[in-house]
Amino acid sequence: MKTDHVEYTTFSGWVDPPTDVRPALGEDVTCEVAVVGGGLAGMSTALRLAEHGRDVVLLEAEFCGHGSASRNAGQVAGAPGGDIQLLSMLYPRRFPAIVRMADHAGHFVEQLIERLELDCDYEPTGNVCAAVSRGQMGRVRRVTKLLRKAGAHVELGTSAELGIPRGFLGGMRESVGGILNPGKFSLGIRDAVLASGARVFERTRVTDVTRNDGHLVIRTAGGEVRADKLVLATNAFGGELPLAPRRLSSPIWVTEVETEPIDPARLAALGWTSRSGMVTQHNIMENYRLTSRDTIVFGVRRLQRGKHHPLPVRTPDAAVVADLARAFETRFPALADVAAARAWGGWVAITSSWLPLAGRIGDDVYYSVACNGHGLAQAPYVGSLLADLIADGEAHEDLKAIWVKKPKFPRPVMMGAPGLRTIWTVDRFNDLVNGSRRNARRA
Ligand SMILES: Cc1cc2nc3c(=O)[nH]c(=O)nc-3n(C[C@H](O)[C@H](O)[C@H](O)COP(=O)(O)OP(=O)(O)OC[C@H]3O[C@@H](n4cnc5c(N)ncnc54)[C@H](O)[C@@H]3O)c2cc1C
Repeated sequence: MKTDHVEYTTFSGWVDPPTDVRPALGEDVTCEVAVVGGGLAGMSTALRLAEHGRDVVLLEAEFCGHGSASRNAGQVAGAPGGDIQLLSMLYPRRFPAIVRMADHAGHFVEQLIERLELDCDYEPTGNVCAAVSRGQMGRVRRVTKLLRKAGAHVELGTSAELGIPRGFLGGMRESVGGILNPGKFSLGIRDAVLASGARVFERTRVTDVTRNDGHLVIRTAGGEVRADKLVLATNAFGGELPLAPRRLSSPIWVTEVETEPIDPARLAALGWTSRSGMVTQHNIMENYRLTSRDTIVFGVRRLQRGKHHPLPVRTPDAAVVADLARAFETRFPALADVAAARAWGGWVAITSSWLPLAGRIGDDVYYSVACNGHGLAQAPYVGSLLADLIADGEAHEDLKAIWVKKPKFPRPVMMGAPGLRTIWTVDRFNDLVNGSRRNARRA
């Protein structure tokens, strides 16, 4: 795969930034609820609160959808992320509730697309946890059993049965969810928020939050917001605000690459008849998906730790793009001559428990991190559940499943640069030993 003419972007390969960015806050305002962060979580919270008739202000540092909301791979998952074997072992009682929440999140996104008439190229294909080796197939079998027992809608199959390319041995399909263009999806939600009763201020970075006279005072360069309640929906950027719980999550940079358009006949020859998005069963997954513009978007495989807040605006490293290109050639040897056209990346928030979280600090500050690489469905769902809680005082069962009683979080394990590098090395070693390269070449 050629990588010498890759267009590197600091935003996303899926869409251009909006041309109607809203003005920054330029005066002091008051409201009932302030939401900080206009990603999928924050926009859904603000939209739902506005639908409840609440007086809500949304503050976004750049423009709504600027973060991972528009940068992700667009694979809407209907099952939890992370290491399922580990999660089910560590949290045996909560696990079925987390599985149910993830399933509901997938359905929620489908209903949102329909209700808001979002033009986002959604295809309800499901997604496949795909195995590139016998070792990975064994892992998929164990994961399928655990997820089925917990109530998930998953099926095991060979690559032919699942309609995925023959270079993969088989896998487990999550039938809920599918693939979409995340840029169109998040900018579509942005349009809905802008058209709602919520007051939206873009180019408005929150620099501090304090309590004064029973109110929250939210500071920005152009003015202050006095609010009764606050929702922190800043995802990986949470550590930038002193009020956010310490060690809530680790910011991790992940990369996606898109190929040049591929002749439809060559795509058809892959045997990818289901068009399901795929994630491999490595410790750090590789993801592959088709797009409506006859390209393949693929990524992750390497996690890069953000060292300091504020997190930098950046493009992917050429070495990471080259590593992803090598993986692409291995998984799709018949497309080895296809060139990589563009690359981008974004910050995800990884929690130390690898579980999605939501909670409250005092009586008036709410937060959620529903991500760990699965936030495309879970972030808007949890954001909307938080809005319902604020509006009605009633917590939905799915919110209870991820609710944190005390905002105290342990130091994350293996999330430093050496740990992440070690995990990558273990994955490459396993690829070699398990002969995933050989399997793909045979296909
Ligand atoms: C490359 C990549 C691939 C991914 N692939 C998938 C996938 O296929 N499937 C899946 O389910 N998930 C995927 N994810 C994860 C998913 O995109 C995220 O979990 C989800 O988008 C996070 O929620 P969010 O949209 O609310 O966060 P974000 O979009 O990051 O929103 C946070 C917002 O807060 C704003 N902000 C931060 N600090 C401040 C401040 N101080 N003041 C004002 N505003 C502030 C930021 O500008 C940003 O817009 C991927 C993520 C990335 C980066």
